[in-house]
Amino acid sequence: MRPFVFVNLAMSADGKLSTRERRQVKISGPSDFRRVDEIKAGSDAIMVGIGTVLADDPSLTVKSEELCAQRRSEGKEEHPIRVVVDSHARTPPDADILHKGVGRRVIAVSEAAPEERVSLLRESAEVVTFGREHVDLSALLEYMGDTGVKRLMVEGGGTLIWSLFADDLVDELYTCIGNVVIGGKDAPTPADGEGFITEKDFPRLSLTGLESLDEGVLICWKVIR
Ligand code: NAP
Repeated sequence: MRPFVFVNLAMSADGKLSTRERRQVKISGPSDFRRVDEIKAGSDAIMVGIGTVLADDPSLTVKSEELCAQRRSEGKEEHPIRVVVDSHARTPPDADILHKGVGRRVIAVSEAAPEERVSLLRESAEVVTFGREHVDLSALLEYMGDTGVKRLMVEGGGTLIWSLFADDLVDELYTCIGNVVIGGKDAPTPADGEGFITEKDFPRLSLTGLESLDEGVLICWKVIR
């Protein structure tokens, strides 16, 4: 069975995840930083697309020493399993996600991934293959569920989030809206990809929370099925 999947993102007041150059920027404030660290620590795995790894080089580790200690006391690894959705095994072998912090890493590739790049990645991560050209997200999530992941957090970016919605694989969405305007028609947004065409295909959300946070707001949604 697939895990419970929630997406967490920070976007500008005008709905952008980063700049048109896809450069990571600070959108939310310190309270949101702590909140994200807490939900990360409460997850079994945290997943990003290769676009995010190439743009931001994130480690996706839990930052607070206290939260790390709490996880250890519960018999868990200090950090959740880090998962990269990377059809062609483009994750750089020196990426922070492969080296910062202890714990399991999973790189999900497709059958189209070149074997030599896969072999290199196998030195620092578990490499799993699902899908022919692109990673089959449904199969990947089933696999994560079968290997003990109950709660999986998705950190982005917009292309991966779009596919997860298109495949009906998202349970909750947390959007932190920060007090900046980024602009740019080509800047990433929370769900990029092809986009839905007909209204009947739009995933419907039910509002479960709304609070002010730092100089912005946090909105929590549940996907209606
Ligand atoms: P992304 O969503 O991180 O990764 C997309 C890539 O994943 C695809 O191009 C594809 O490349 C791979 N992939 C493999 N299988 C897939 C599938 N079934 N469906 C979708 N993707 C699949 O990249 P992005 O949209 O370029 O987003 C990166 C940007 O988002 C950066 O600018 C980053 O700073 C920003 N970001 C912002 C936040 C925030 O909260 N503000 C969070 C994260 C990222 P291959 O086919 O080659 O594998």
